[in-house]
Amino acid sequence: MSEHHVWQVAPVPGASVRPDCTHLDEAAEPPAKAVRRGCEDCLRTGSSWVHLLECLVCGHQGCDDSSPRKHAYAHAHAAPGHDLARTLKRGEDWAWCYADELFLRPAG
Ligand SMILES: [Zn+2]
Ligand SMILES: [Zn+2]
Ligand SMILES: [Zn+2]
Repeated sequence: MSEHHVWQVAPVPGASVRPDCTHLDEAAEPPAKAVRRGCEDCLRTGSSWVHLLECLVCGHQGCDDSSPRKHAYAHAHAAPGHDLARTLKRGEDWAWCYADELFLRPAG
């Protein structure tokens, strides 16, 4: 089984036209299985997180927007070209484009 290497914009409920994300090319080949390490920035500062997002460009792991510090958001805005992050939440398979604020799903 190969991992999902290609992402596509998830259909938006109520929208007749699927919006376009021009950042899909940024996604690097993901590792076969992401090793869940934890939010790098929370670990450094002794903070805690709720869920993790992994930057699809560089593999940075940061906490999501339900976490107090929102480090994934901070990373995406601090690093130019790092607009895509996928969830590391067990049982979920989606990514998020910070630039377009769109959900992405694995293609196929
Ligand atoms: Zn985009
Ligand atoms: Zn964090
Ligand atoms: Zn990154």
